Amino acid sequence: MTANRIKRLSSFVANQIAAGEVVERPASIVKELIENSLDAHARRIVLTIEQGGVKRVRVSDDGVGIHADDLQLAVCPHATSKIDAADDLEGVATLGFRGEALASIASVAKLSISTRTAVAENGSRIDVDDASEAHVGPAAHPLGTTVDVSDLFYNTPARRKFLKSERTELAHLSDIVTRLALARLDVEFEMRNGSAVQHLAPSEADGLRRVAQLLGAGFAAASVPIDEERDGLRLHGWVGLPTHSRAQADQQYFFVNGRSVKDRIVAYAVRQAYRDVLFHGRQPVFVLYLELDPRQVDVNVHPTKYEVRFRDARNVRDFVFGTLNHALRGVRPGGAPPESPRRHESVHIHDRASDHHTHAMPSLQQLMTLSSSAHELPVRETETPPYESGTRVVPPLGYAVGQLHEIFILAENAEGLVIVDMHAAHERITYEKMKAARARAQGIQQQRLLVPITMNVSPAEAEVAALNREGLAALGLDIDRSGPASLIVRGIPALLASSDAENLVTDVLTDLGTDGSTERLRHYEDDLLATMACHGSIRAHRKLTIAEMNALLREMETTENAGQCNHGRPTFVVENLRDLDQRFLRGR
Ligand code: ADP
Ligand code: MG
Repeated sequence: MTANRIKRLSSFVANQIAAGEVVERPASIVKELIENSLDAHARRIVLTIEQGGVKRVRVSDDGVGIHADDLQLAVCPHATSKIDAADDLEGVATLGFRGEALASIASVAKLSISTRTAVAENGSRIDVDDASEAHVGPAAHPLGTTVDVSDLFYNTPARRKFLKSERTELAHLSDIVTRLALARLDVEFEMRNGSAVQHLAPSEADGLRRVAQLLGAGFAAASVPIDEERDGLRLHGWVGLPTHSRAQADQQYFFVNGRSVKDRIVAYAVRQAYRDVLFHGRQPVFVLYLELDPRQVDVNVHPTKYEVRFRDARNVRDFVFGTLNHALRGVRPGGAPPESPRRHESVHIHDRASDHHTHAMPSLQQLMTLSSSAHELPVRETETPPYESGTRVVPPLGYAVGQLHEIFILAENAEGLVIVDMHAAHERITYEKMKAARARAQGIQQQRLLVPITMNVSPAEAEVAALNREGLAALGLDIDRSGPASLIVRGIPALLASSDAENLVTDVLTDLGTDGSTERLRHYEDDLLATMACHGSIRAHRKLTIAEMNALLREMETTENAGQCNHGRPTFVVENLRDLDQRFLRGR
């Protein structure tokens, strides 16, 4: 084989290659065009699409417009009005800055721009045809800009084939538009697809209206507003109550200085804030805006700018975690509940329990030990306190009257009827007990492996394992580094004796992967305990005696966060007498 000679690519081919990074599908064009409109200070943006955006994408805005003499340049690569020098990259405040989008789009589709600035008497227009030749001429256009993109990938059939069905492209478009419309609640948006029109009015005071329009009234009703500021960082928006969680992470919106980002650091902080109230697999819903000095965040990490890099990542993570954690503590049924129409009326366990002699009540101590005998409930035949309203203090969750379908416990308290989800309640109690046991000196019991396992890992993982040796040991994991890229596992938590040690260690290391701090370890520990609690708790369809039910109720009263199971579902609800009266049309 002879060596091929090196040639410079024509700028048109170079643009097409660059376009691969920016223009993947119609939705990416819409993103670039609307971001340009927002950078141009538009107050109103109209998006028109045809055939899922493949036939046409048109974005009209009432922004500042483009100077007629700049139109040629606007479609050239690396031409931008947004930054001047490399220094400006340090504090980019606009969404765009690479000067790449229009040139990329022009290389893979037919592009025309009509525009007028405030000082120009007439509008002008540029058409970029397939030979990448551009024609500029006069055109009528109100103040602002209209960018029209048609026949996407007409000149690159191979890429056109990668486009999916119209329905799929519309789904991507809808995701992008939702992100942009959430990013800027103050800007008016209109989307037209054939005869379908969606209009989003600009929101003045209450942005929650648009959030409800885009994410459903359910989220709006089951969310808590956030607004916190510290050391130049501000976090505001809405977080869903744990009871409004979803099976998928499809309603999680995080904006950094108005830019929708998918950031690992932030995702981690959010996950940690929900960790006690949401179980594995359930996903929180949130719309959050982080604002900080643009110099504190690098947006020049990836062409699509979905990734950012924080200068002080740890501080950002702690701030996001701290703020959300605080907000979520406030909504736990045991804590101070916020006003929310969807919440069940709940008993304020902590306030009242402290007033009563709960230790005189039977306890489920044996049940909550770290042994696998957690399935066995202690039976106390003698304990059936009579319920005499008025003559004695009734505990917050009252006294059991019976069991419903072996799933719920029914109890009578001063307010009325208490319905407890037995499994959910027990799971929370077990989890809290195990956390407490871990906090005690003896820590988590370890089970030695009969045959130590040697595992091949990455050198980075081996390093993290060695670094966290002690922390892992406290968790019940005995792991030694046996080579540059291998580990030897000698013991795992006794409670997990039946689980696959290698998988367990892999998961732990994956979670520890990024920064390997002991704090990470501590958080992961809770996840492990939560898993164990779930497996160690009484299942539905178990017959309990009245004494056992009462014991569980008393235990709930003294357990932190007992109002919700680890999955974030409520563990009990109260039907008060007044409501029951109403239901039976009994006037009192
Ligand atoms: P970038 O946004 O990175 O600067 P683009 O290729 O997206 O690069 O746009 C190039 C330039 O065209 C922008 O810097 C801006 O000056 C101008 N421009 C593009 N769209 C608009 C618009 N809707 N309104 C005003 N100016 C625009
Ligand atoms: Mg741009």
